[in-house]
Amino acid sequence: MRHLIIGSGPAGVVAAETLRKADPAAEITMLCGEAGPPYSRMAIPYLLRGDIPEAGTHLRKDADHYARLRIQLVQASAKAVDAVARKVDIGGRSLPYDRLLIATGSRPSREQIPGIDLPGVQACWTIADARALLAQARPGTRIVQMGAGFVGCIIMEGLLSRGVDLTILVRSGYMVRRMMDATASGLLRSWCEAKGVKILTHTQPTGLTSEGGVLQVALANGRVLPADIYLSAVGVDPNLDFLEGSGIALGQGILVDANLQSNVPGIYAAGDVAEATDCLTGKRQLNAIQPNAVEQGRIAALNMAGRPTRFKGSFVFNVLTTLGLVSSSFGEWQGVPGGESTEVLDPAHYRYLNLQFEGDRLVGANTVGFTDHVGALRGLIEGRMRLGVWKQRLMADPTQVMQAYLAAAHSLV
Ligand SMILES: Cc1cc2nc3c(=O)[nH]c(=O)nc-3n(C[C@H](O)[C@H](O)[C@H](O)COP(=O)(O)OP(=O)(O)OC[C@H]3O[C@@H](n4cnc5c(N)ncnc54)[C@H](O)[C@@H]3O)c2cc1C
Repeated sequence: MRHLIIGSGPAGVVAAETLRKADPAAEITMLCGEAGPPYSRMAIPYLLRGDIPEAGTHLRKDADHYARLRIQLVQASAKAVDAVARKVDIGGRSLPYDRLLIATGSRPSREQIPGIDLPGVQACWTIADARALLAQARPGTRIVQMGAGFVGCIIMEGLLSRGVDLTILVRSGYMVRRMMDATASGLLRSWCEAKGVKILTHTQPTGLTSEGGVLQVALANGRVLPADIYLSAVGVDPNLDFLEGSGIALGQGILVDANLQSNVPGIYAAGDVAEATDCLTGKRQLNAIQPNAVEQGRIAALNMAGRPTRFKGSFVFNVLTTLGLVSSSFGEWQGVPGGESTEVLDPAHYRYLNLQFEGDRLVGANTVGFTDHVGALRGLIEGRMRLGVWKQRLMADPTQVMQAYLAAAHSLV
């Protein structure tokens, strides 16, 4: 059996390792679209902060790890998939397969503004991006960052640790708008401002120019900000371009069934690129977080090896550290129609907990500064546990989450 994996991020690597265990005789090839050993993007913030060397980002530390498992790494990008002939074009030659896994992850969304291709404009998504930032970011370097989503927030500490002068433009007015409500977002903003980050809300650039090697970021209100680096962090899109004309059904990502198989038998998808079903809402969605990529890589591989295994569904949970402030969002944090909510807020200490209920079940939560509740919140929401009498107790005091979880887990509700 010839297994071909496109992409060598966490989903691809875990899939290759799982395949080797499940199918000792198989031929396993993994296409690496970026130079160097497979690495974790999640480690980039630690690299920027100087906590780890570049080798610390490598997903597997042993130089001969892949050779030992007889996983062939091919440094090339997939250009097209021929699902009828079962081969992948890598430019100049093609690789045949019996089972194919697409684990190509996502890439930074491109802003449609004049000047976006100028030198000094960059993203923070790949290891090459991180190297470029490390080379340029020095005390006093002026960075104008567009976007304050998950990645925009998580890299701030690394940037500030290098002494840069950081200004963040936020189009919507709310930081991490896709995972936080307005109160949580406001706390994050004041926390960042207290640490010296300038945040301009309801602001976006109309274009970039360069004068004497310095970028000029023109804002819609007429203001112009000089910048040594313009860091574009406005979100990500799945890497799907090379699938055009392949017959593989696409939505926002690759549409997969419960076995992570696409509409084309023998072709699977896992990780940021796969559009699977959310176990709480039953709706299809992308879930671009590493634990999801790892789990989907493992499950797709078992199916490829002929061991039918169902993906129980992805669950939305994000834990974010912004300049040392931990925040999180779970499930239906925006609430559900007819649901109830409760919250506790202590702005002076940057603490906030918001719980969303449907009947006597907890269905979503936002937290800021509550680190010890993360496991209990996840357990209650993902497990769809009934709270019984604990629902009213939580409505009165949301900080009783751990006690509620223990009671629900031991059926004491
Ligand atoms: C700075 C940063 C911090 C993050 N922090 C966190 C965090 O704290 N927690 C968390 O859960 N997630 C975090 N993430 C997100 C996390 O890294 C992704 O969810 C995860 O990497 C997804 O894994 P993947 O294997 O699906 O895709 P990727 O890791 O993106 O890997 C995809 C691979 O496919 C390759 N590829 C793409 N196109 C092709 C092609 N045509 N041919 C061949 N190869 C191709 C790419 O080069 C890459 O190697 C962070 C991301 C960034 C950038």
